[in-house]
Amino acid sequence: MTAATLKIDLDALAANWRALDSLTGCETAAVVKADGYGLSAGRVARALARAGARRFFVALAQEGAEVRQALGPGPMICVFSGHMEGDAPLIRDHDLTPMLNSVDQMLRQVEALPHRSFGIQLDSGMNRLGMEPDEWAALRGIALRQMPALIMSHLACADEPDHPMNAQQLRVFKEMTGNIDVPRSLAATGGILLGPDYHFDLTRPGVGLYGGLPFEAAQPVVALDMPVIQTRDLAVGETVGYGNTWSAQRPSRIATVAAGYADGLIRAMGPRAQVFDGNRRCPVVGRVSMDLITVDITDLAETPESLSILGPHQGVDDLAEAAGTIGYEILTSLGPRYTREYLG
Ligand SMILES: *Cc1c(COP(=O)(O)O)cnc(C)c1O
Repeated sequence: MTAATLKIDLDALAANWRALDSLTGCETAAVVKADGYGLSAGRVARALARAGARRFFVALAQEGAEVRQALGPGPMICVFSGHMEGDAPLIRDHDLTPMLNSVDQMLRQVEALPHRSFGIQLDSGMNRLGMEPDEWAALRGIALRQMPALIMSHLACADEPDHPMNAQQLRVFKEMTGNIDVPRSLAATGGILLGPDYHFDLTRPGVGLYGGLPFEAAQPVVALDMPVIQTRDLAVGETVGYGNTWSAQRPSRIATVAAGYADGLIRAMGPRAQVFDGNRRCPVVGRVSMDLITVDITDLAETPESLSILGPHQGVDDLAEAAGTIGYEILTSLGPRYTREYLG
């Protein structure tokens, strides 16, 4: 087997959902956008439905259709981007619930799909998606008569608990939704950890389910093992890889493993990344290539069959730090070439 193996632990995923659910007294949904943060939306959604999730969120109607196919009828599937031009057939045929972001989307919905399920997304300060306070004030009466299934907004700084933006957005969200008898949702993973003021009726965790920060208590969900294709012994002064960026300071043994930046192991992690043989850490040397990574295994007694880049000693956020990015980006970049093994 030459492709690297991505192991996805669906039991850990379900345990993370239950752990986040136990932190609140309200309903816990699951965000499965971007193909379930790169881990396969269908597999992930089915595992979370078994754990008890009844509401799912995706970014696009197309993603919602895929999740509906995986889940069958019953669970509510909400679409953050709302009702875009041309989406009506997908929304109708797959029984999706668009989170309407503007007056235009509201009109599109009532015209094309009257009396069908929808929600409202409000902008409480992030300035990314949702109706702004003025727009909402004008539309609110009409929208509420159509009986939205949910009113939601999203926090910009929830991963920084002390950031004043959190309280500010909470205040705006409460002002915009006061005296409304519709279920409300403000918190994603970070918002759940901010405490009960932020929970309302439904939370929408994503990254914490998949083992990422800011949910520090998360169980790791992914492990990635890369097979060693070849090894070679270098004399002092010999170089490795494109650009000759690394040269041997001692007689060295180099292993070449089968994964690279085309598989989401981004080139920027190069000199700061490491891989593991069991408990033993081995530095990545030279540049990350498209399909290959070179590793200094001089200190290993034997040549391993594979080396681990994601596992117990290095999680998605550790690797993200080496690459100057966030765990979310490492997860959603995991490429299509891996052999995927689902556990659980
Ligand atoms: C992605 C997203 C979430 C999930 O956020 P996490 O930080 O991954 O928990 C929730 N709500 C909205 C609107 C999102 O875009």
